[in-house]
Amino acid sequence: MRDVLLENVDLITMDPDLGVIENGYLAIKNGRIEALGSCSQLQPGDYANYQRITGPKYGKRFIALPGFIQTHVHTSQALGRGLADDVDLITWTRKRIWPYEAALTEEDVYVSALLSAAEMLKSGTTTFCEASGAKPDAIGQAVIDSGMRGIICLSTMDLPGEIPPESRMNTAEALEKNLDVVERWQGRHDRVGACFNVLNLFLSSEELWRSLTELALEKKVFLQTHLAESLDEVAFIREKSGKTPVQYLDSLGALGSHLLAAHVVHVDDRDLVTLQERDVRVLHCPGAGLRIAGIARIPEMLERGILISLGTNSPPCNNRMSMLDEMWLAGIMHKAVENNPEAVPARSVVEMATINGAKTLGMDKELGSLTVGKKADIVIMDFNKLCTTPTHDLLSTLVYQANNAVVHTVMVEGEILVDAGELTSIKEEWLITEAERRAQEIVQRANIRF
Ligand SMILES: [Zn+2]
Repeated sequence: MRDVLLENVDLITMDPDLGVIENGYLAIKNGRIEALGSCSQLQPGDYANYQRITGPKYGKRFIALPGFIQTHVHTSQALGRGLADDVDLITWTRKRIWPYEAALTEEDVYVSALLSAAEMLKSGTTTFCEASGAKPDAIGQAVIDSGMRGIICLSTMDLPGEIPPESRMNTAEALEKNLDVVERWQGRHDRVGACFNVLNLFLSSEELWRSLTELALEKKVFLQTHLAESLDEVAFIREKSGKTPVQYLDSLGALGSHLLAAHVVHVDDRDLVTLQERDVRVLHCPGAGLRIAGIARIPEMLERGILISLGTNSPPCNNRMSMLDEMWLAGIMHKAVENNPEAVPARSVVEMATINGAKTLGMDKELGSLTVGKKADIVIMDFNKLCTTPTHDLLSTLVYQANNAVVHTVMVEGEILVDAGELTSIKEEWLITEAERRAQEIVQRANIRF
């Protein structure tokens, strides 16, 4: 792998000391950011042996920013995308997605995760955290083969319910399997991590919550879950405990900075205070929120300093996997709800997609900003496109105008995985054919009817 010099680029560093550097350069040595600054500081002959990525001579300069970090995405569900559109939640779950998941082979999950990785990379995402995966080993292999970073976990539930037989486990098995995934994958490969998972509050016991929380704290591993996602969940937990979902988990000692809580939509004022006090990380999924879960109280959470990052959630309930789409939604939806065009400004959205994602996953010492010494996970965009013309403000253009067409180069640790819009680690044509074939076969096998 060659060292790389970016020149003639505007750097959106997301480093509070550096801000935006116009007409800048950034040097990458051994996969880390070696130096950055204004192009005017470069002397002829500097970085002579480096591979150069230079913005266009005419028109606007390239834009470089930290690779996006998605903290909640279901990569094993990508082949089920489009299988459950415009149906009620019961049909979505029981008649479409559970039969789909029950029919998945290890190879299907690998291809699904590779499809997810390909789509994430081509839209600027360099790191993701799995939301609740079936067959995590296959997901881990897809992460390795794609070259991106991923944190994997096993979709976990220990209470009986209408779930596929393959997914059923008792509490002891749930603990054992979670530990097994974490112990086998932590430290095994540089770009793959692992965390614990509890799918949701409907299908999990108090014992599972207590034990996994203890293990998460002991082993310094995150615990990923869906929290306060639906009004049904609120009613179910109220009936069971007399509490809100947030207060229920707090009573079990399960809230803390180890908890990655997706959605967190149906919360009251007291819940917001509790989330803030316990430093729970909130994973905001705007697309899925608009389609199914509802709209989280993001402006109030931001005001309280709650750490918020972004995810595209489940392909069958979004159905997009582009962080740029999610950023656009995050930037506009709360303005409508609050009747306030100043709510959730572009800067906050870009923070959620980059440095907040890194903080959420405990990776901010290495990722999340263009800072000397950090790993070179970088996305380079070409704003010489119709959608980004004109550009008056880089952050505004990025959030409110840009789409996937602007993504030019994507690198992880200096390794170029998208080169001039083309994947380098994944054969895209093969993947499309393979994913389509497998998706149709799964529908047949699972006998899913529309
Ligand atoms: Zn989810």
